[in-house]
Amino acid sequence: MKADVAPDSPEVRRVVELAESYPEVSTELHQIQGATRSLTELYLLGSTGVIPTEPFEEFACVEKVVRITEKFRSIGRHGGGLEAVGFEYNGVRISQDSLTLFPGLCAVDTRENVERMFAALADHGIETSRAGAYKPRTSPYDFQGLGADCLPYVFELAGKHGIRIVSMEVTHESHVEEIQKALVASGHATGVMLQIGTRNAQNFELLKAVGQQDELPVLFKRGMGITLEESLNACEYVASGGNRRIVFCLRGMKSNLGDPHRNFVDFGQVPVVKRLTRLPVCVDPSHSVGNRALAPDGLLDVFHATAQGIVAGANMVLVDFHPHPEEALCDGPQALLFEELPHFIEDANIVRRAYEMRVERAAAPRTAS
Ligand code: PEP
Ligand code: MN
Repeated sequence: MKADVAPDSPEVRRVVELAESYPEVSTELHQIQGATRSLTELYLLGSTGVIPTEPFEEFACVEKVVRITEKFRSIGRHGGGLEAVGFEYNGVRISQDSLTLFPGLCAVDTRENVERMFAALADHGIETSRAGAYKPRTSPYDFQGLGADCLPYVFELAGKHGIRIVSMEVTHESHVEEIQKALVASGHATGVMLQIGTRNAQNFELLKAVGQQDELPVLFKRGMGITLEESLNACEYVASGGNRRIVFCLRGMKSNLGDPHRNFVDFGQVPVVKRLTRLPVCVDPSHSVGNRALAPDGLLDVFHATAQGIVAGANMVLVDFHPHPEEALCDGPQALLFEELPHFIEDANIVRRAYEMRVERAAAPRTAS
């Protein structure tokens, strides 16, 4: 519908009536947060193949009629016919046009480290972080995360240091409820983005569970050993449950061809995901690179990978820090140091400016060379 059309207006009612006059067709009305505006979308479901688009295009309130032909019905752009969907959550806006950094602890280990992390971010004006409470580990004998026990202090400290969103992985649907309860108990001191890890990218029951609640946004990490299309189909499970506040995260592919990195860095696919879907795109340079190797130019590989994601238009960066990586109980070898935080932020901003200049240049009229 056009921008100023309310979902409950008489005009929209007439469009719904026309749609439902076709046999075996039902409708759903959705209020969507687009890149620049909130918009009303009317979905026609069922035997829609034979319905002509013209009678709908004639309504003054209708902006565009898009025939959904591809997969990824809810998250897809359908050949560019649909605009990107962003969202605002707890005062932070995330869309295909924005960039938000989420530096934080891979896993919560002690209250002191959580406090140090959030305080360091606050010192640099960062209001978004990560903190893993439930860790899916390759070995059952590795540290599995502190679970629900750490949630009260993580949320309290986030509130104390002005952290608005904490990205936190869930590995079972019961974790969603534990997080929601702890948020209420904290007086909603902060917000949580539910992270679906690469190992659960095709855990369809978990995807349905996070999709059927719409209080908390979802960060969906691509499966490390499946195709992009399979990951997008899996992500569609979240959206089909009703939750449209989703960010799609690239985090590298499991392949020895990426050696000596932990995963094969896949950030060249940022524009691909932005073109195929309406979702903001995150990159996770820590889990992609997986080490603290330094290039001869003086920049860590994690900095380089971050830059590759941002210069390609990434909207969110999830990155591991730890005050004492040698003591970290999970993924210490890839964690950045606190003293590297200001340089990391500065480097990200330099690259973001380059990306914005590239976009401006692309939009400018072509001049003869
Ligand atoms: C994580 O972000 O802590 C994590 C386990 O990432 P991934 O699921 O991408 O391995
Ligand atoms: Mn990790």
